[in-house]
Amino acid sequence: MNIHEYQGKEILKNFGVRVQEGIVAESPEKAVEAAKLIMAQTGSKFVVIKSQIHAGGRGKGKIRGSEQRGVQLAKSVDDVRDISKNLIGNVLVTHQTGPEGKKVNKVLVAQDVYYPGASEPKEYYIGILLDRSKACNVIMASTEGGMDIEEVAEHTPEKIFKEWVDPAIGLQPFQVRNIAFALGLQGEAFKEMVKFIGSLYKAYVETDSSMFEINPVLKTSDSKILAVDAKVNLDDNALYRHPDLIHLRDITEEDPLEVEATANDLNYVKLDGNVGCMVNGAGLAMATMDIIKLSGGEPANFLDVGGGANAKTVEAGFRIILKDPNVKAILINIFGGIVRCDRVATGVVEAYKAIGDIKVPIIVRLQGTNAEEGARIIDESGLKVFSAVQLKDAAAKVKQVLEELGE
Ligand code: GDP
Ligand code: MN
Repeated sequence: MNIHEYQGKEILKNFGVRVQEGIVAESPEKAVEAAKLIMAQTGSKFVVIKSQIHAGGRGKGKIRGSEQRGVQLAKSVDDVRDISKNLIGNVLVTHQTGPEGKKVNKVLVAQDVYYPGASEPKEYYIGILLDRSKACNVIMASTEGGMDIEEVAEHTPEKIFKEWVDPAIGLQPFQVRNIAFALGLQGEAFKEMVKFIGSLYKAYVETDSSMFEINPVLKTSDSKILAVDAKVNLDDNALYRHPDLIHLRDITEEDPLEVEATANDLNYVKLDGNVGCMVNGAGLAMATMDIIKLSGGEPANFLDVGGGANAKTVEAGFRIILKDPNVKAILINIFGGIVRCDRVATGVVEAYKAIGDIKVPIIVRLQGTNAEEGARIIDESGLKVFSAVQLKDAAAKVKQVLEELGE
């Protein structure tokens, strides 16, 4: 589950990580109020207005139809009002949102932390994620903060320092010092960075996060280390352990079909193709997507209805697939193990009748327990549903159907 920058920073703060302080606002008036509070606290007339969307690249991204950037420095209360008006309610397009962009519903009014002082502010990158191949968490750090880290990884991978953390032993103090040293820090900033990384890692582990990306981490002109940005991804599978974090979900940022799928306990991921598929089991779903490609189609989605598929789940799956206008054919591929094929077939027929007026051809392949019985139910239903027992027959039918449609 992705969350907003302001929410991520709130979590970090609770674990003692120093962050660029700010107040979230949903209207230009509230943004002005927030800015006045921050200005009074910091004694500065400068604040930063940051669009809150679930995507990075906001600083370089632009509001559709204008030259307005997604993150801007305001130098007065009037600036705050103007910038907020330009951001809130409009669509921000960044290299991570795709051309459709994302609507900005809120802005974070934040203290300006790039103030002048004894030395120049300096940006770093720190990320924490799970390295599956090593079965360890990895902390990645770079002096190339503020840049697109994928670019750094591609062109100058030597500038990314990695420290792997054995989950059984935990993060060791010498590892934290290694990172601070690799970032070239000394004195007060070194100590601050050690503290920062320690608290950050604790926050990552204790919230069961699957990714933290803090870009930039800033060394201020007076050697404080703080998080200017916070991209936090919480592990969905562990959310049940964090009832206090579940409310951070912002469904307006998610694909509506995926939201509906989650509500029905279905694992659904929308893709760009034309053949909708409904399968039980993630492995079979992957294999089915391969078969669709081999038969000349493109999968429109990944959908795993799980082991206990029944008429209700099949119907919910149907409805979700049919809401995708790109879907030209549907392939249902169910292996009857725990769930019997005749029950699935009944579910398909019932769902078909319940939804009514389904125009796209449906190919159903049932294999396993009571497969023949299942095929018979479908064939005798009189509906425009094609049944297949073998996967290659199902693939051939998909191909035939797509050809008939001129796809
Ligand atoms: P992203 O572009 O979505 O990753 O958003 P960030 O939170 O990383 O902000 C983008 C950029 O805004 C940063 O890299 C900074 O250069 C700039 N920025 C952020 N906070 C401040 C600030 O307090 N003062 C100034 N002058 N610039 C800031
Ligand atoms: Mn950033």
